[in-house]
Amino acid sequence: MSKKPKLSPEEKAAQEFMEKIVSLCKRKGFVFQASEIYGGIGNTYDYGPLGVELKRNVKEAWWSRVVTGRGDVVGLDSAIIQNPKVWETSGHVGGFSDPMVDCKECKNRFRADHLEGDLCPKCGGELTEAREFNLMFKTQVGAVEGTSSVAYLRPETAQGIFLNYLNVQNSARLKPPFGIAQIGKSFRNEITPGNFVFRTREFEQAEMEFFVPPDEEQQWYEYWKQARFDWYVELGIRPENLRMRVHEEDELAHYSTGCADVEYLYPFGWGELEGIACRTDFDLKRHSEASGSKLMYFDPQTKEKYTPYVIEPAGGIDRMALTFLIDAYEEEQLEKDTRIVLKFHPEIAPITCAVFPLVKKDGMPEKAHQVEALLRAARFATFYDEKGAIGRRYRRQDEDGTPFCITVDGDTLQDDVVTVRHRDSMSQERVKIDELVSYLYKSIGEWKRV
Ligand code: ATP
Repeated sequence: MSKKPKLSPEEKAAQEFMEKIVSLCKRKGFVFQASEIYGGIGNTYDYGPLGVELKRNVKEAWWSRVVTGRGDVVGLDSAIIQNPKVWETSGHVGGFSDPMVDCKECKNRFRADHLEGDLCPKCGGELTEAREFNLMFKTQVGAVEGTSSVAYLRPETAQGIFLNYLNVQNSARLKPPFGIAQIGKSFRNEITPGNFVFRTREFEQAEMEFFVPPDEEQQWYEYWKQARFDWYVELGIRPENLRMRVHEEDELAHYSTGCADVEYLYPFGWGELEGIACRTDFDLKRHSEASGSKLMYFDPQTKEKYTPYVIEPAGGIDRMALTFLIDAYEEEQLEKDTRIVLKFHPEIAPITCAVFPLVKKDGMPEKAHQVEALLRAARFATFYDEKGAIGRRYRRQDEDGTPFCITVDGDTLQDDVVTVRHRDSMSQERVKIDELVSYLYKSIGEWKRV
């Protein structure tokens, strides 16, 4: 029997915090273990009703800042299974099928066939056993099995963008600098423990390839590093929990001229949230050579011709959703008990407004349903609840992270005024029903983390 390692008090607290998050996620319907009734399957999760809305909001917040809020980035939705030559050219077929060992101390990963003896070249730590590290999922296409029908599930969405460089540039009549963005599922046969949805075998990526004239590379790299860092702060992540880690020269891919990660201070330590990389003209050139298509920018009038350089912000939606959730989680000590509250930015919160009749009689439910319909028509994510004491209903919404609770009481039937209760401050205000929608828009716009 193997002995469990003794945890330090900090590690124990971190583990307990993650356990709280995991249990809240299950209890409230954010995230469930996949195939739970069959004992689960490693590093794989399903999203419940609140989790789905949370992820939709994260994707929308990304898309609205990276694509639709600007004039120089367009979207793409490319296939998960592409011609296998794509992954040979990109280096994924060759790059992910070596026998690998991990150093238990410094966490570096090495090719077993490059090691001499048992010592780790970096720190001398103990190594795990060698294993074939096949990060890509293989599958078969067509009716006949065999080597000619082998295909792969994409391990990143970026390659689909490079493949369509010319299609998009020509159809949308674009000239660098411009970007192509994509959100979609990627698949990696992750073997290391996942820390909940931080590392899973299938996950959604949000990637954007920004194509620039080569001499503008550095200025756009600086621009996107800042823009992507600011996005998290704007959406409520506490800046003290974020940092930008610039990669050392020896961490860079051989073709890359710069890379930086936005990192978050998770309970289990600093971890990568998103990477911003200079990929130069490497991918377009490789695919041009291998396919024979000239993936270049060409201006027929000026005859200007070059292969653009690429800046790539690449993040994971699941990791972002987890980060918003962890950062939003607070336990507040009140007079009589502890309040659990998720202080999501209203744009990220799965439910924006909850509507309650104070009591389930005297025409209040009917009036509350009218308010609910008004809010749904204004496209607010709305939840109606008439069960239990009003205080209990507020607390349930605090745990869901709902920023506004709207209560219809006896007076509302006379004066058409409702009570809006704010999640973070728990303060209450009386608002006329016909001013409610604009009041909520204003409150969302003015929201600040307290
Ligand atoms: P890591 O070092 O954590 O494995 P990576 O550097 O391989 O990540 P990239 O290939 O740069 O990651 O992918 C971009 C983003 O996609 C990451 O910053 C992360 O947010 C997300 N991501 C990558 N792998 C996973 C995974 N297995 N599960 C969830 N998200 C992932």
